[in-house]
Amino acid sequence: LIAVTELKKRFGANEVLKGINLDIMPGEVIAIIGKSGSGKSTFLRCINGLETVDEGSILVAGAQLLPDEVHLKALRLKVGMIFQQFNLFPHLSAGRNVMLSQMVVKKTGKAQAEAMARRQLERVGLAHKFDAYPDELSGGQQQRVAIARALAMEPIALLCDEITSALDPELVAEVLAVVRELAAEGMTLMMVTHEMKFARDVCSRVVFMHEGRVHEVGPPEEVFSAPKTVELQRFLGHGH
Ligand code: ATP
Ligand code: MG
Repeated sequence: LIAVTELKKRFGANEVLKGINLDIMPGEVIAIIGKSGSGKSTFLRCINGLETVDEGSILVAGAQLLPDEVHLKALRLKVGMIFQQFNLFPHLSAGRNVMLSQMVVKKTGKAQAEAMARRQLERVGLAHKFDAYPDELSGGQQQRVAIARALAMEPIALLCDEITSALDPELVAEVLAVVRELAAEGMTLMMVTHEMKFARDVCSRVVFMHEGRVHEVGPPEEVFSAPKTVELQRFLGHGH
């Protein structure tokens, strides 16, 4: 579904991605782990077209990602992304937040956008909060609205960058439950996460990034129980 070949990205003299190779099959759930600064966010942002690529290629559903506006816009329509910060518009209700990008980006009509918003809010367990404003919602609920907003664009894959990191501990589970449900429905997911237990339970593969490369990749039981490289052993806190 997504094919990344020799992807390189630098910021000035700092080469942040040093040749990433990764193929993601439809329905796969990939956890991306690694130290701060290893390039996890930059990698996801490249896949979503939020960063331009210096070298290498990214194919999304067979289409080459080219760094021009038309292609990037098409890509952002196909691949959804959710961040640590929910970025909801504070002056719009939950329902309006979910309707807006459909209407602006996809030119969906209002009635259709509203029907979709109600459907997606229901999917994240917030059908009753259509008219609530962000400041009337908990952090977990706001993040679920952000997920509904991404789903309303009918993405072929969803990229999640530490989506539970800004939440109070007691709110993490409700957001992870939504992600678990999406995974069970067959949504292709790539998520940067510190939730190792969740990664172990839900993910088909774990990607360990180290210094801008995919340093180790495999099924969670292998990556977590039998890490091959010293760097991953250190990251997971076994062996010194
Ligand atoms: P964290 O776990 O802290 O979120 P990360 O693995 O997501 O880290 P990135 O955010 O991808 O790491 O950053 C990788 C490197 O790229 C860092 O050295 C960072 O300073 C640099 N970097 C990221 N974005 C930019 C930018 N817009 N301009 C310049 N340097 C950047
Ligand atoms: Mg990051």
